[in-house]
Amino acid sequence: MPFSKLGLIDPLLKAISELGYKTPTEIQKKAIPVILSGKDLIAGAQTGTGKTAAFGLPILQTLSSLGEVRGRSIRALVLAPTRELVIQVEANIQAYAKYLKISSLAVYGGSDLEAQKQALANGIDILVATPGRLLDLAYQRALFFDDLEFLVLDEADRMLDMGFIDDLHKIIERLPEHRQSLLFSATLTDDVRFLAKVVNHDAIEISL
Ligand code: AMP
Repeated sequence: MPFSKLGLIDPLLKAISELGYKTPTEIQKKAIPVILSGKDLIAGAQTGTGKTAAFGLPILQTLSSLGEVRGRSIRALVLAPTRELVIQVEANIQAYAKYLKISSLAVYGGSDLEAQKQALANGIDILVATPGRLLDLAYQRALFFDDLEFLVLDEADRMLDMGFIDDLHKIIERLPEHRQSLLFSATLTDDVRFLAKVVNHDAIEISL
């Protein structure tokens, strides 16, 4: 099955074709139509399965269809456990967004806070962050969530293992109720399912 059958728009098809993606992976086949339909999702998928494109492509498509918003509020928040993953996810999203006017930024602990605040002040659509740094920026009123459309918890099991649960709760309670929430996790443990109940509403569950 080609990517075009998933209902993706031409600027995204062009970008992924240039990256050499020919056919969607299993998780992409299953997740992209669910996300494009506006539903919440809980997905069991490991790194290496193509999960970044599984959420990145439909988020870019939806934000692009909603048109440009230029404010201080981010429109999608992707939380991931480590600096390495944050950098990798944001680099992929930026590559998928090559032919769209959608901006993204990676923020993580240990990097220049002032530079990140300046970038956010200029308007960022998709923010990829570790939970601790995201909270620091929120406490400093460097970003707002008024226009937030998407929350993604990437590698949710690892975030719980690393003790981010309190940070996650503090972040989630700041977000607008009306949003689409997507949770990806290598394992769907009881703790992950409990977290999914906190963030998701009537989520569709998929696993590989
Ligand atoms: P991820 O699981 O998102 O970390 O992706 C793993 C690797 O697979 C990354 O290097 C992606 O660029 C690549 N990738 C993702 N989707 C596809 C696809 N449909 N075809 C070929 N490569 C892909």
